[in-house]
Amino acid sequence: MVTQQPESRGFFSNLPVSFFASKGLMMALIVQKYGGTSVGSIEKIRNVAKRVLESYKEGHKMVVVLSAIAGQTDNLIKLAHQMCTDPDPREMDVLMATGEQVTVALFAMAVKSMGYDARSLLGFQVAIHTDMLYGKARIHEIDTARILTELEKNRVIAIAGFQGLDERGNITTLGRGGSDTTAVAVAAALNADVCEIYSDVKGVYTTDPNVCPKARKMDSISYDEMLELASLGAKVLEIRSVEFAKKYDVPIHVRSTFTTERGTMVVAETKDMERVMVSGVAYNKSEARITVKRVPDRPGTAARIFEPLLNSGIIVDMIIQNPSEAGKTDLTFTVNKSDFEKSLKLVSEVATGIGAEKVMGDENIAKVSIVGVGMRNHAGVAQKMFHTLAKENINIMMISTSEIKISVVIEEKYTELAVRVLHEVFGLENGPQQDQ
Ligand code: ASP
Ligand code: MG
Repeated sequence: MVTQQPESRGFFSNLPVSFFASKGLMMALIVQKYGGTSVGSIEKIRNVAKRVLESYKEGHKMVVVLSAIAGQTDNLIKLAHQMCTDPDPREMDVLMATGEQVTVALFAMAVKSMGYDARSLLGFQVAIHTDMLYGKARIHEIDTARILTELEKNRVIAIAGFQGLDERGNITTLGRGGSDTTAVAVAAALNADVCEIYSDVKGVYTTDPNVCPKARKMDSISYDEMLELASLGAKVLEIRSVEFAKKYDVPIHVRSTFTTERGTMVVAETKDMERVMVSGVAYNKSEARITVKRVPDRPGTAARIFEPLLNSGIIVDMIIQNPSEAGKTDLTFTVNKSDFEKSLKLVSEVATGIGAEKVMGDENIAKVSIVGVGMRNHAGVAQKMFHTLAKENINIMMISTSEIKISVVIEEKYTELAVRVLHEVFGLENGPQQDQ
């Protein structure tokens, strides 16, 4: 179990916050994570080594977390499925963890060939302790002793991302994209000054630049906003890493391996952030809609409709129930497109049992959302969104809100148009729009 000590973000370790300062050292402890495309070839790994050494030569302590070479984890999964249809979960993790073993070793070799000392460490060597859930293990605790000993020896440390060790001594993996979580957890454990996440994107954008050419790279964004954007499919950071960073207050710098340009800081909320009405527009085309028509309006019907979905591990996102008319109501919800057929079947089965009229489905939908902590204290944000969509004749089928997000479900073919007009109306291309 994780026990949090509120006054220290490095709850994993006994390292005092002022470890380096107390030694009178003018340096930072930097954790950097490089994604699969950044270590995609021998030449690229060499470039990463050069980049890490630049900071090292400035006097910083460097801990580097690496992903597997892009595509490698997918290849390993394919191999397993060629061997058998239902690979053993324990062996699956042993297999998947090899991808990162390759990159940390090659990286350490690169650093050494450049005349500096480096050490690669696998998850179990660190050790990164996790629970026993193969394929999606959660980090419980990180031993910092080994890392600190290596740092004392002025070595660059390379830690294999995405992997850990459970209490039975088995290798676990953290779920796809899990190296981000490794990096943030290591940064938390070490009380690092910053956790830099390097990939082939330059930062977090106000919306998808492929959809809206006017999308702008943000200077900073709050953890909560990032969580909303990440869960909506903005795939810059793995969602668990952001939850982790928020919990332990680890500043994340999302930036590109291929430029020296500053990226986007993901940090705790500031007063300035609140002045901005909307920070970003996100969309998600991966959901489908199911409507159960004319459900008898009596206690227990909703529970019966959702129960089979829950039992099959299907995640339901938005849910809307209309006010009833003559004792009957319509219930609409969304699920992932990949669960659509199965959900339709399961719900149709119960629908007959509870006396509902029919079940309808629609896969051609998209969810478009606006996100911003400033919504909390600005009136009329929703109205502005609805009005803007109406002007374009875009029909809203469903609406859901959280404290810092408004989502609408629309016809899929209008996604790009909706994103562009919302980006425009909230002035996102111009940088933080302040209170008028
Ligand atoms: N190699 C793992 C994956 O592809 C972990 C990561 O890249 O973060 O999911
Ligand atoms: Mg990744």
